[in-house]
Amino acid sequence: MSRCGGVTRRDALRTAVASGLLLAVGGGCGSRDTRTSTVTAHPYAAAARRSDAFAWPEGKRAAVSLTFDDARPSQALTGIPLLDHYGVKGTFFVSPGPLQTHLPAWKQALANGHEIGNHSLHHPCTGNFAFARDKALEDYTLNQMERELREANRVIESALGVRPTTFAYPCGQKFVGRGRHLRSYVPLVARMFEAGRGWMDEAANDPAFCDPAQLLGMELDGLDFQAPRKLIDSAVANGSWLVFAGHEIGEGGRQTTRIDTLEAICRYAQDPNHGIWIDTVQTIVRYVRETR
Ligand SMILES: [Zn+2]
Repeated sequence: MSRCGGVTRRDALRTAVASGLLLAVGGGCGSRDTRTSTVTAHPYAAAARRSDAFAWPEGKRAAVSLTFDDARPSQALTGIPLLDHYGVKGTFFVSPGPLQTHLPAWKQALANGHEIGNHSLHHPCTGNFAFARDKALEDYTLNQMERELREANRVIESALGVRPTTFAYPCGQKFVGRGRHLRSYVPLVARMFEAGRGWMDEAANDPAFCDPAQLLGMELDGLDFQAPRKLIDSAVANGSWLVFAGHEIGEGGRQTTRIDTLEAICRYAQDPNHGIWIDTVQTIVRYVRETR
């Protein structure tokens, strides 16, 4: 505890907290680093912030992307025809193995304007998941990850004729290694792809601020329409880009985006009164990069 003119930092802190201000005394007495900031009720509290520096096209007020992972058969058989029915384009993050099932349907999806992204070669996640123990991110290196992401791109391109330009982090996890030797593989994704999407995040993306290499992805599985509708309305109020992420598409069940919810989102997003631009991650991230 240092002293400044007989007043300890602890005294200053106590006084500041009591008055509702936090006095950050970083550099000693009379430091120019001394700043004040308000203490908020909780860490997430903030006024809604709309970026006036960024404008969505054609007067739209928010963007929404529907993304699905793992090339699950229900996406090819149920989800893509549903989206086609509503004229909505989705982004499907695939691994090469599962892609082989229903390959003609995936080719048709591309032909219909949907996007196929990369979801890694083997879907490595933390080894705390039993399914990932023999492909644990804790045991990966950046070189191994780069080799596998390139191989996944190569196999997807040879199967579909289009090289992915976007990526979704398996399990939303963005590291390789552990402890002092852990490395983020976000910079690798930033070099290889135009966008990288996370999973089970808690917010929409601010188009004027977000890092395309780690876009926030909000879980869509298991929800009725009310929850995503609130998120969409909030995105419209804030001018943000909401990226939903799901897995199976069906009536219900584990890791399943409900058909009725998906239909309701499509209808809601296409009502011109709502001012929503619904499109693929690739299309929207390109607009964001070119515009801001
Ligand atoms: Zn996955």
